[in-house]
Amino acid sequence: VPLLQLDDVSFAYPDGTQVLSGVSLSVPAGSRVALVGPSGAGKSTVLALVEGFYPLTGGTIRWAGTDVRELPRAALRAQLGYVEQEAPVLAGTVRENLLLAAPDAGDDALWAVLADVGLTGVVQRSARGLDVPVGDEGVLLSGGERQRLAIARSLLSRPALLLLDEPTASLDARNENLLRETLAAAAADRALLVVAHRLSTVLDSDQIVVLDGGRVVARGTHAELVETS
Ligand code: ADP
Ligand code: ADP
Repeated sequence: VPLLQLDDVSFAYPDGTQVLSGVSLSVPAGSRVALVGPSGAGKSTVLALVEGFYPLTGGTIRWAGTDVRELPRAALRAQLGYVEQEAPVLAGTVRENLLLAAPDAGDDALWAVLADVGLTGVVQRSARGLDVPVGDEGVLLSGGERQRLAIARSLLSRPALLLLDEPTASLDARNENLLRETLAAAAADRALLVVAHRLSTVLDSDQIVVLDGGRVVARGTHAELVETS
Protein backbone atom coordinates (compact mmCIF):
# COMPACT_ATOMS: atom_id res chain seq x y z
CA VAL A 1 0.00 0.00 0.00
CA PRO A 2 1.51 3.37 -0.97
CA LEU A 3 1.98 5.99 1.71
CA LEU A 4 -0.09 8.50 -0.24
CA GLN A 5 -2.53 7.77 -3.01
CA LEU A 6 -4.74 10.10 -5.00
CA ASP A 7 -7.48 8.37 -6.95
CA ASP A 8 -9.39 10.25 -9.61
CA VAL A 9 -9.18 13.48 -7.63
CA SER A 10 -11.06 16.47 -8.92
CA PHE A 11 -11.37 19.85 -7.35
CA ALA A 12 -13.13 23.14 -7.94
CA TYR A 13 -12.48 26.20 -5.80
CA PRO A 14 -15.54 27.61 -4.03
CA ASP A 15 -15.80 30.29 -6.74
CA GLY A 16 -16.43 27.47 -9.25
CA THR A 17 -12.98 27.41 -10.88
CA GLN A 18 -12.38 23.79 -11.90
CA VAL A 19 -8.72 23.18 -11.13
CA LEU A 20 -8.17 19.40 -11.08
CA SER A 21 -9.86 16.61 -13.04
CA GLY A 22 -9.27 12.89 -12.59
CA VAL A 23 -5.83 13.18 -11.02
CA SER A 24 -4.36 9.88 -9.84
CA LEU A 25 -0.92 9.42 -8.42
CA SER A 26 0.76 7.47 -5.70
CA VAL A 27 3.77 8.05 -3.50
CA PRO A 28 5.19 4.78 -2.16
CA ALA A 29 7.02 4.98 1.16
CA GLY A 30 10.57 6.20 0.70
CA SER A 31 10.03 7.29 -2.91
CA ARG A 32 10.50 10.63 -4.62
CA VAL A 33 7.63 11.82 -6.78
CA ALA A 34 7.66 15.10 -8.67
CA LEU A 35 4.69 17.06 -9.93
CA VAL A 36 5.68 19.24 -12.86
CA GLY A 37 3.76 21.39 -15.29
CA PRO A 38 3.17 24.99 -16.32
CA SER A 39 2.04 27.70 -13.97
CA GLY A 40 -1.66 27.34 -13.25
CA ALA A 41 -1.67 23.58 -13.95
CA GLY A 42 -2.96 22.88 -10.43
CA LYS A 43 0.25 21.62 -8.81
CA SER A 44 0.03 23.71 -5.63
CA THR A 45 -3.62 22.78 -5.32
CA VAL A 46 -2.67 19.10 -5.16
CA LEU A 47 -0.41 19.80 -2.17
CA ALA A 48 -3.10 21.96 -0.53
CA LEU A 49 -5.59 19.10 -0.85
CA VAL A 50 -3.14 16.62 0.68
CA GLU A 51 -2.63 19.07 3.55
CA GLY A 52 -6.41 19.18 3.95
CA PHE A 53 -6.82 22.89 3.30
CA TYR A 54 -9.91 22.24 1.19
CA PRO A 55 -12.40 19.37 0.93
CA LEU A 56 -12.19 17.32 -2.29
CA THR A 57 -15.00 17.80 -4.74
CA GLY A 58 -14.38 14.35 -6.26
CA GLY A 59 -12.22 11.27 -5.84
CA THR A 60 -10.27 10.00 -2.88
CA ILE A 61 -7.02 10.68 -1.09
CA ARG A 62 -5.68 7.78 0.96
CA TRP A 63 -2.93 7.76 3.56
CA ALA A 64 -1.44 4.29 4.03
CA GLY A 65 -4.65 2.93 2.55
CA THR A 66 -7.09 4.89 4.71
CA ASP A 67 -9.37 7.55 3.24
CA VAL A 68 -8.07 10.80 4.77
CA ARG A 69 -11.65 11.80 5.55
CA GLU A 70 -11.56 9.06 8.18
CA LEU A 71 -8.33 10.33 9.75
CA PRO A 72 -8.11 13.12 12.31
CA ARG A 73 -6.56 16.10 10.53
CA ALA A 74 -3.90 16.53 13.23
CA ALA A 75 -2.82 12.90 12.97
CA LEU A 76 -2.28 13.26 9.23
CA ARG A 77 -0.56 16.64 9.51
CA ALA A 78 1.87 15.17 12.04
CA GLN A 79 3.12 12.86 9.28
CA LEU A 80 3.48 15.64 6.70
CA GLY A 81 6.20 18.22 6.36
CA TYR A 82 4.68 20.91 4.15
CA VAL A 83 6.97 23.64 2.89
CA GLU A 84 4.98 26.20 0.99
CA GLN A 85 6.31 28.23 -1.90
CA GLU A 86 8.51 31.07 -0.65
CA ALA A 87 8.19 29.56 2.80
CA PRO A 88 8.29 32.32 5.38
CA VAL A 89 11.23 32.43 7.73
CA LEU A 90 10.91 34.34 10.98
CA ALA A 91 12.85 37.53 11.41
CA GLY A 92 14.39 35.80 14.42
CA THR A 93 17.36 33.53 14.81
CA VAL A 94 18.07 30.17 13.22
CA ARG A 95 17.31 28.55 16.57
CA GLU A 96 13.97 30.34 16.88
CA ASN A 97 13.03 29.33 13.35
CA LEU A 98 13.75 25.69 14.07
CA LEU A 99 12.06 25.66 17.47
CA LEU A 100 8.83 26.69 15.73
CA ALA A 101 8.48 23.13 14.50
CA ALA A 102 9.80 21.33 17.55
CA PRO A 103 9.79 23.56 20.63
CA ASP A 104 11.50 20.95 22.79
CA ALA A 105 14.29 19.99 20.39
CA GLY A 106 17.77 20.12 21.83
CA ASP A 107 20.78 21.65 20.11
CA ASP A 108 21.94 18.20 18.95
CA ALA A 109 18.70 17.72 16.99
CA LEU A 110 18.89 21.25 15.61
CA TRP A 111 22.47 20.77 14.41
CA ALA A 112 21.55 17.40 12.89
CA VAL A 113 18.87 18.86 10.62
CA LEU A 114 21.10 21.80 9.75
CA ALA A 115 23.70 19.25 8.65
CA ASP A 116 21.03 17.51 6.52
CA VAL A 117 20.39 20.74 4.64
CA GLY A 118 24.03 21.84 4.50
CA LEU A 119 23.70 24.89 6.72
CA THR A 120 26.10 24.16 9.56
CA GLY A 121 28.91 26.05 7.82
CA VAL A 122 26.84 29.20 7.60
CA VAL A 123 25.75 29.10 11.21
CA GLN A 124 29.22 28.28 12.48
CA ARG A 125 30.59 31.27 10.61
CA SER A 126 28.77 33.37 13.17
CA ALA A 127 30.27 33.53 16.64
CA ARG A 128 26.71 33.32 17.90
CA GLY A 129 26.07 29.89 16.41
CA LEU A 130 22.38 29.03 16.30
CA ASP A 131 21.59 32.55 17.42
CA VAL A 132 22.54 33.92 14.02
CA PRO A 133 19.64 36.12 12.89
CA VAL A 134 17.74 35.11 9.76
CA GLY A 135 15.84 38.32 9.17
CA ASP A 136 16.87 41.66 7.84
CA GLU A 137 19.07 42.70 10.71
CA GLY A 138 22.63 41.63 11.39
CA VAL A 139 24.00 38.57 9.61
CA LEU A 140 21.75 37.48 6.78
CA LEU A 141 21.09 34.11 5.25
CA SER A 142 20.83 34.11 1.47
CA GLY A 143 17.58 33.21 -0.28
CA GLY A 144 18.80 29.67 -0.85
CA GLU A 145 19.90 29.34 2.75
CA ARG A 146 16.53 30.55 3.97
CA GLN A 147 14.80 28.01 1.75
CA ARG A 148 16.98 25.26 3.18
CA LEU A 149 16.23 26.53 6.68
CA ALA A 150 12.52 26.25 5.95
CA ILE A 151 13.09 22.65 4.85
CA ALA A 152 15.19 21.99 7.98
CA ARG A 153 12.27 23.28 10.04
CA SER A 154 9.92 20.79 8.44
CA LEU A 155 12.43 17.93 8.84
CA LEU A 156 12.61 18.48 12.60
CA SER A 157 9.19 16.97 13.13
CA ARG A 158 10.39 13.81 11.30
CA PRO A 159 7.60 13.69 8.72
CA ALA A 160 7.04 10.48 6.75
CA LEU A 161 6.28 12.60 3.69
CA LEU A 162 7.77 15.94 2.75
CA LEU A 163 5.58 18.14 0.54
CA LEU A 164 7.64 20.82 -1.17
CA ASP A 165 6.12 23.54 -3.32
CA GLU A 166 8.60 24.96 -5.84
CA PRO A 167 11.61 24.73 -3.54
CA THR A 168 13.97 26.07 -6.21
CA ALA A 169 11.72 28.74 -7.74
CA SER A 170 13.79 31.67 -6.51
CA LEU A 171 17.20 30.02 -6.54
CA ASP A 172 20.19 30.47 -8.81
CA ALA A 173 21.86 27.43 -10.40
CA ARG A 174 24.35 26.94 -7.55
CA ASN A 175 21.68 27.03 -4.86
CA GLU A 176 19.44 24.82 -6.98
CA ASN A 177 22.22 22.20 -6.99
CA LEU A 178 22.69 22.53 -3.24
CA LEU A 179 18.97 22.10 -2.77
CA ARG A 180 18.94 18.97 -4.92
CA GLU A 181 21.61 17.54 -2.63
CA THR A 182 19.46 18.51 0.34
CA LEU A 183 16.50 16.67 -1.15
CA ALA A 184 18.59 13.59 -1.79
CA ALA A 185 19.68 13.60 1.86
CA ALA A 186 16.15 14.27 3.10
CA ALA A 187 14.79 11.46 0.92
CA ALA A 188 17.08 8.91 2.53
CA ASP A 189 14.47 8.01 5.14
CA ARG A 190 11.24 9.59 3.96
CA ALA A 191 9.06 10.10 0.91
CA LEU A 192 9.02 13.32 -1.08
CA LEU A 193 6.34 14.92 -3.21
CA VAL A 194 7.94 17.91 -4.89
CA VAL A 195 6.25 20.51 -7.07
CA ALA A 196 8.41 22.13 -9.71
CA HIS A 197 7.99 23.94 -12.98
CA ARG A 198 11.60 23.20 -13.93
CA LEU A 199 12.35 19.58 -14.74
CA SER A 200 16.00 20.23 -13.81
CA THR A 201 15.01 20.29 -10.14
CA VAL A 202 13.51 16.80 -10.17
CA LEU A 203 15.52 14.78 -12.71
CA ASP A 204 16.32 12.05 -10.21
CA SER A 205 12.73 11.46 -9.05
CA ASP A 206 11.40 7.89 -9.05
CA GLN A 207 8.32 9.16 -10.84
CA ILE A 208 7.52 12.44 -12.55
CA VAL A 209 3.85 13.30 -12.99
CA VAL A 210 3.16 15.96 -15.59
CA LEU A 211 0.09 18.06 -14.93
CA ASP A 212 -1.46 20.43 -17.46
CA GLY A 213 -4.83 22.12 -17.18
CA GLY A 214 -5.60 20.11 -14.05
CA ARG A 215 -5.07 16.74 -15.75
CA VAL A 216 -2.24 14.24 -15.72
CA VAL A 217 -0.86 14.35 -19.26
CA ALA A 218 2.21 12.13 -18.78
CA ARG A 219 4.05 10.21 -16.13
CA GLY A 220 7.24 8.23 -15.82
CA THR A 221 10.89 8.58 -14.97
CA HIS A 222 12.79 11.40 -16.64
CA ALA A 223 14.29 8.90 -19.11
CA GLU A 224 10.83 7.53 -19.97
CA LEU A 225 9.37 10.99 -20.44
CA VAL A 226 12.21 12.01 -22.74
CA GLU A 227 11.78 8.80 -24.81
CA THR A 228 8.09 9.33 -25.43
CA SER A 229 8.18 13.07 -26.16
P1 ADP B 1 -2.15 7.02 -19.46
O1 ADP B 1 -1.51 8.09 -18.66
O2 ADP B 1 -1.74 7.02 -20.89
O3 ADP B 1 -3.63 6.97 -19.28
P2 ADP B 1 -0.82 5.24 -17.66
O4 ADP B 1 -0.28 3.87 -17.89
O5 ADP B 1 0.12 6.32 -17.26
O6 ADP B 1 -1.64 5.62 -18.95
O7 ADP B 1 -1.97 5.16 -16.55
C1 ADP B 1 -3.10 4.37 -16.72
C2 ADP B 1 -3.99 4.65 -15.53
O8 ADP B 1 -3.37 4.11 -14.38
C3 ADP B 1 -4.14 6.14 -15.32
O9 ADP B 1 -5.43 6.54 -15.67
C4 ADP B 1 -3.89 6.36 -13.87
O10 ADP B 1 -5.11 6.64 -13.23
C5 ADP B 1 -3.37 5.05 -13.34
N1 ADP B 1 -1.99 5.22 -12.86
C6 ADP B 1 -0.85 5.13 -13.58
N2 ADP B 1 0.22 5.32 -12.82
C7 ADP B 1 -0.26 5.53 -11.57
C8 ADP B 1 0.34 5.77 -10.32
N3 ADP B 1 1.67 5.86 -10.15
N4 ADP B 1 -0.45 5.93 -9.25
C9 ADP B 1 -1.78 5.84 -9.39
N5 ADP B 1 -2.40 5.60 -10.52
C10 ADP B 1 -1.66 5.46 -11.61
P1 ADP C 1 0.24 25.74 -10.10
O1 ADP C 1 0.73 25.41 -8.74
O2 ADP C 1 0.39 24.60 -11.07
O3 ADP C 1 0.81 27.00 -10.66
P2 ADP C 1 -2.26 26.31 -8.75
O4 ADP C 1 -2.66 25.05 -8.10
O5 ADP C 1 -1.62 27.36 -7.92
O6 ADP C 1 -1.35 25.96 -10.01
O7 ADP C 1 -3.51 26.97 -9.45
C1 ADP C 1 -4.33 26.25 -10.38
C2 ADP C 1 -5.47 27.13 -10.78
O8 ADP C 1 -6.30 27.40 -9.65
C3 ADP C 1 -5.06 28.48 -11.33
O9 ADP C 1 -5.89 28.77 -12.43
C4 ADP C 1 -5.33 29.42 -10.21
O10 ADP C 1 -5.65 30.69 -10.69
C5 ADP C 1 -6.51 28.79 -9.52
N1 ADP C 1 -6.58 29.11 -8.09
C6 ADP C 1 -5.57 28.94 -7.20
N2 ADP C 1 -5.97 29.28 -5.95
C7 ADP C 1 -7.28 29.66 -6.07
C8 ADP C 1 -8.27 30.12 -5.15
N3 ADP C 1 -8.00 30.24 -3.85
N4 ADP C 1 -9.50 30.40 -5.63
C9 ADP C 1 -9.78 30.27 -6.93
N5 ADP C 1 -8.89 29.83 -7.87
C10 ADP C 1 -7.65 29.54 -7.44
